[in-house]
Amino acid sequence: MGAIRYYSTNRNISEPGFVPFKGLVSFKEALIVGQAPDAGLFMPERIPNISKGELEDLRGRRFFEIAHSVLDKFLYGDIESDHLLKLCKEAFNFQVPIERVYDRKFIMRLDRGPTASFKDFAARMMARLMGALKDQDKILNILVATSGDTGSAVGEAFKGVKGINVFILYPEREVSGRQKKQLDTIGDNVTTLSVDGKFDDCQNLVKMAFQDKDLSSLNLTSANSINIGRILPQMIYYFYSYLEKSEEGEPVIVSVPSGNFGNSLGCEFSRRMGLPVHKLIMAVNENDEFPTYLSTGKYNKLSPSKACISSAMNVGHPSNLARFFELYGGTVDKSGKVHKYPDLNKMKSHLFSTTISDQMTRDTIKRVYENYNVLLEPHGAVGWAGLESYIAQYGDFPLCISLETAHPAKFPEEIKSLLGFEPELPESMKDVDRRQGQPIRIENDYLKLKNFLKKNLENK
Ligand SMILES: *Cc1c(COP(=O)(O)O)cnc(C)c1O
Repeated sequence: MGAIRYYSTNRNISEPGFVPFKGLVSFKEALIVGQAPDAGLFMPERIPNISKGELEDLRGRRFFEIAHSVLDKFLYGDIESDHLLKLCKEAFNFQVPIERVYDRKFIMRLDRGPTASFKDFAARMMARLMGALKDQDKILNILVATSGDTGSAVGEAFKGVKGINVFILYPEREVSGRQKKQLDTIGDNVTTLSVDGKFDDCQNLVKMAFQDKDLSSLNLTSANSINIGRILPQMIYYFYSYLEKSEEGEPVIVSVPSGNFGNSLGCEFSRRMGLPVHKLIMAVNENDEFPTYLSTGKYNKLSPSKACISSAMNVGHPSNLARFFELYGGTVDKSGKVHKYPDLNKMKSHLFSTTISDQMTRDTIKRVYENYNVLLEPHGAVGWAGLESYIAQYGDFPLCISLETAHPAKFPEEIKSLLGFEPELPESMKDVDRRQGQPIRIENDYLKLKNFLKKNLENK
């Protein structure tokens, strides 16, 4: 079989004036352009299989070796296997602790990367794949608008990747002091622009730059969360934790605190490859459009989204819902309009979703700490509460793994008010406190940004 190609989730939409993209592109093209020409999301034409024997052969292997074996099945024919191994080793160079809560119920901590969030896994691998697959004689310029954590994960991930420059725009007054320090001090090939405006202004500036014909020679690229290059690396820790904790052939229940559903999609892909996931729990905060869909069969996006304490999951229409619908035979576009409903019963046989209020989130942080001495932050607490809610409804299950997606030290006030102490900073965050750096400040004015890009990009 040849290399896997990628199609658009919008390819079957027929509407007056809409031009669906019916083609197939290579992984490289999907990675570099990010989104299909019809604004759909790229999907692999097939999901490769991992046999029981192959899975068992990976038992006891190191994280980067498992990453290599899993990703090689997707990227075979796109990137040389030895080269991929090297990239995996570079990208996944931090710990992935799996902590027992009780019996065989575990918390997997995905918070030991450079920005203490699970987004480091995807961003670090995507950065290296882009570095390896881009035209080697060209410089790629990545432009991103961020309201906080995504920007720093992307910035840190690309730091030092040759042939790629990154420009991050953030709203000066809408990031926390720590986020600002983290963004401003990345350095090297990563430049941060502190914009005198709101997050929406930053997004608009970036959008205008992408549409500006005068800048088309600058090889501008995005690195947003819908890129397929960010989904594939989010499969690895499901394999890893399974191989660390399961008996041969044993099924597992996985609970994922979810916002845009990229992380849970990594689990769904893993299951379709052959990982024995009995149920994927997609735990959401008070933005409950997905559990409501599963129980009623009608999908309505939430607009505006609700501001909950698990702030990275405040999403009223998950961008990767389009990929989930696609996998179960449906189509939804990015405005939230359903063109075809998926097979709901089939979906419910594999997926469970539940909404966790802020009050339940806080109670969970307190209770899990007091009963089990396990420290969670709001996102991880939503995941754990989702697992508890599943068990309360369907009974106990021997092996369960719930994901912690950020480090508790990122939420010092919340933890302090609930538990009376501030969590200790992980090494990566201590480093940030010691770093020096200055952002470039710009006004909320497209011409200023354009001049800046022309001057700084053409010189490189
Ligand atoms: C982004 C994020 C999530 C949500 O992940 P999705 O892939 O968008 O579902 C959960 N927790 C944290 C800490 C995040 O940063």
